[in-house]
Amino acid sequence: MIYHSTSNYDVTASISEAILHSYAPDGGQYLPEKVPLLPKAFMKNLCNMTLQEVSYAIANYALQGDIDAQVLHDVVNETLNFPIPLIDMGDNRHILELFHGPTMSFKDIGARFMARLMAHYYTGNGNQEINVMIATSGHSGGAIANGFYGIEGINVYILYPQDQLNPLQRAQFATLGKNITAIEVKGTINDCKNMAMQAFNDPDLSKKMLLTSAKSVNIARLLPQMFFYFWAYGQLAKHGHNMEEIVVSVPCGNLGSLTAGVLAKEMGLPIKRFIAADNKNDVFTQYLRTGKFMPREAEPSLAIAMDCGNPRNFPRLEKLLGGHAGMCQIMEGFAYSDERIISTIANTWNREQYLLNPHSATAYQALIDGLRPGEIGVALATSHPAKAQLDVESAIGQPVDIPDELMRFFNGFGHITTINSGYNSLKKFLLSR
Ligand SMILES: *Cc1c(COP(=O)(O)O)cnc(C)c1O
Repeated sequence: MIYHSTSNYDVTASISEAILHSYAPDGGQYLPEKVPLLPKAFMKNLCNMTLQEVSYAIANYALQGDIDAQVLHDVVNETLNFPIPLIDMGDNRHILELFHGPTMSFKDIGARFMARLMAHYYTGNGNQEINVMIATSGHSGGAIANGFYGIEGINVYILYPQDQLNPLQRAQFATLGKNITAIEVKGTINDCKNMAMQAFNDPDLSKKMLLTSAKSVNIARLLPQMFFYFWAYGQLAKHGHNMEEIVVSVPCGNLGSLTAGVLAKEMGLPIKRFIAADNKNDVFTQYLRTGKFMPREAEPSLAIAMDCGNPRNFPRLEKLLGGHAGMCQIMEGFAYSDERIISTIANTWNREQYLLNPHSATAYQALIDGLRPGEIGVALATSHPAKAQLDVESAIGQPVDIPDELMRFFNGFGHITTINSGYNSLKKFLLSR
């Protein structure tokens, strides 16, 4: 399969180039030449398949033989070795819990899949080591670090701003060691991002090392996000719902999950429509309502991983659906303030004894507000409530325990290197490795 840039159709890449570089050289994002259509019989059989079987079938179909079937089989099985439960909330509403991976965030799925595919390129490429670097303000660092942890041939550098992460966020990547290096920068997240960007563009470094990012626009992170839409559909089919009426509510940041949902629909999964949930950074909701896409500086919110002022996957959605009219046919947007997120967490706890994380709360509230009579709704729950312990505690007025899966990150020692802000400090550090 050939992949084309969203900025210029003539800029193309193979799957391996698309995975190793994330963005096209013209700054666009890669989309497959053609989204393959699955046979109808496949949908009928989804309810009889395991999560791994569904995921492997989708991955293999989407990649059209570009990656060896046995390799892909192993990658899928190692990526999805935790459950994705679908919770029936009554009133035709469901919650799909995507947060049972190692850092209890749905980003574990994309990070693990990407890491294992990259490892395959390492061995396929004469064992040239791959160096992955990302700048994180807290949320993606843990998932990326744990996704790549212990994978041979890949070194990971996580840049983060000093004093701006909470201890649990930091521990999730800084106590691992082995191939994971935490680099604390005496500066802001924007300093970290600029430093990483300069490193990717520095010819001195590229002569010495293969350096790449693990950006969320990377096709290897996007692809596995399709799996859970198919999985949710199969789980609902078991219960004899009207399968023409499925609506999925997606908490949106860079619009990766929503784009993956649209790709799943284009592959033939009969999802009726999507609900896009924003926090107060409502650039996408405003676009759906007005037709004007107006990126702006993001403001911090309680659903921090959704604080995006310029959603990166927007060009992909635009291409896939042919602009505003096409998008509005299959999606509707809702945006929520921090106060509303807190009241949704409190109400859902009081009425349904279900504890939501702030990210998941936007999607669940949007499902409550957007689901029409006769429709069957699924809200994606993307993070464990304990990951936002203080906010969730203040919402429900009760203590929230941090599960052992997260507490274990405090056990190790910190493997942290502190450097000054400014590209030269980073360059010196990388060249000394
Ligand atoms: C990244 C993230 C999102 C937003 O997903 P996108 O694919 O960027 O739209 C939502 N919730 C959580 C917990 C996340 O980490």
